[in-house]
Amino acid sequence: MGNTYQLAEHFISINGEGQMAGALALFLRFAGCNLRCDWCDTAWACGKDAPHETVTLSRIMQIAEDAVRQGVRNVTLTGGEPLLQENIGELIKRLGGTLGLRVEIETNGAVPLKPFLPCGACFTMDYKLPSSRMEQHMCTENFALLHEFDTVKFVCGSRADVFRAKEIAAQYKPRCPMYLSPVFGRIDPAEIVEIMKEQQMGDFRLQLQLHKFIWDPNARGV
Ligand code: SF4
Repeated sequence: MGNTYQLAEHFISINGEGQMAGALALFLRFAGCNLRCDWCDTAWACGKDAPHETVTLSRIMQIAEDAVRQGVRNVTLTGGEPLLQENIGELIKRLGGTLGLRVEIETNGAVPLKPFLPCGACFTMDYKLPSSRMEQHMCTENFALLHEFDTVKFVCGSRADVFRAKEIAAQYKPRCPMYLSPVFGRIDPAEIVEIMKEQQMGDFRLQLQLHKFIWDPNARGV
């Protein structure tokens, strides 16, 4: 049957975050995650029993070709954790190499990125801060592998998280843009700006999750 993937949903929308925020993208959301963040907004896609379809590589390529015909230039692989899918590297190469799409991988920071570097994708890598209760799972060796076209996203659910983001950045010095992304409903973005000013965090950018403001924050498929 060839390579298959556990696809939870697919849709075209705008990228809500990362360097391509605001640009149209095909989203491919894969089922399953190796973390359980305290404030996860896609918990429904994380468990072993997450609703999904098992689809072939050629079926995903058809979905992507259709998106290209609709003028889409970006594809975002998300989850769950997309890099846990077996043979995901092959899919990444085909999406970029065959269709010329800019491939963005939203990854949770708990999967080593080294094996995926030759695939030609950009990474938006989360660093899970203390309020997630998952910080101990972070693969800090990934920081040295990121480039200027990648992004580190520090997801902040508390004031303490913002201070911790500053510490981590000073320790690992990633070579790519660093975003502070407030967990919707947990911390007022204005508080983050105040801390950025107080703490002289000029190397960071605040980024709000656009889709939470445009649509219902709990809506799926947007
Ligand atoms: S890594 Fe992402 S998908 Fe997985 S539990 Fe955390 S927030 Fe949810």
